[in-house]
Amino acid sequence: MTVSDELLLEVRDLTVDFGSLRAVDHVSFSLRAGGALGIVGESGSGKSATAYALLDLHRGTGARVGGSVRLAGTDVLTAPERELRRLRGGSVAMVFQDPLSSLDPYHAIGDQIAEVHRLHSGASRRAARARAVDVLDRVGIPDAARRARSRPHEFSGGMRQRALIAMALACEPRLLVADEPTTALDVTVQAQILDLLHELRTDEGLGLVLVTHDVGVAAGSVDDVLVMKQGRVEERGPVREVLGAPRAPYTRALLGAVP
Ligand code: ADP
Ligand code: MG
Repeated sequence: MTVSDELLLEVRDLTVDFGSLRAVDHVSFSLRAGGALGIVGESGSGKSATAYALLDLHRGTGARVGGSVRLAGTDVLTAPERELRRLRGGSVAMVFQDPLSSLDPYHAIGDQIAEVHRLHSGASRRAARARAVDVLDRVGIPDAARRARSRPHEFSGGMRQRALIAMALACEPRLLVADEPTTALDVTVQAQILDLLHELRTDEGLGLVLVTHDVGVAAGSVDDVLVMKQGRVEERGPVREVLGAPRAPYTRALLGAVP
């Protein structure tokens, strides 16, 4: 696994306000190229609001975002729309809890991935279709050439999440932001998806921000962890230290340990 010295992501003093509610309260962290960071915390602690800010998905929603996010050399929060689109389709990809919300039910999964790749790279339709089969194969879809013709409802939940990760890979991102990617899956499939993310890090140097309310999910998948509580960072550090010997009672409670 190569974690270089280059900073891929640098978040400083991030705040996100929904009206009078401060959902993210002066959060700072950074990630080196190829590194993996877990953001954990109870429901409503501001994990998703933080993750969305990494791509400035709050833009145009009425939420107020402060501080700075620097991603692959771009100042995300002040970047012009065009630059942001380039970033979203290129350096960074996002995977959500529910793959169905990101997939079009009426079109073949392979076509959807090919389209994303074509938009990103300008490849021909034919090359993009080939690329779609490649990435489906890469994420472990059996008989990928045939299954590329399936529509989302023909896939199981785990396969849909794999397909979504394949779609993310089609753009050759350097960073994957995954918001509760395994929450909707049963335990066995969860483990398979986490293995896949780990493999992508190891083999392709993909950086990972993994958002999860399930501390166990983070434990085996990331190097460092950020524990969020009511919008703030309650505790942080190497995942083994924080989860192995949590200092904050809140973290101990998250782990289900006796306080
Ligand atoms: P988490 O992902 O940790 O469960 P969120 O980041 O989704 O938490 O939410 C943090 C807080 O912000 C919660 O109190 C939630 O209710 C609130 N919130 C999230 N999104 C919105 C929104 N679009 N409008 C108003 N409040 C929101
Ligand atoms: Mg969330």
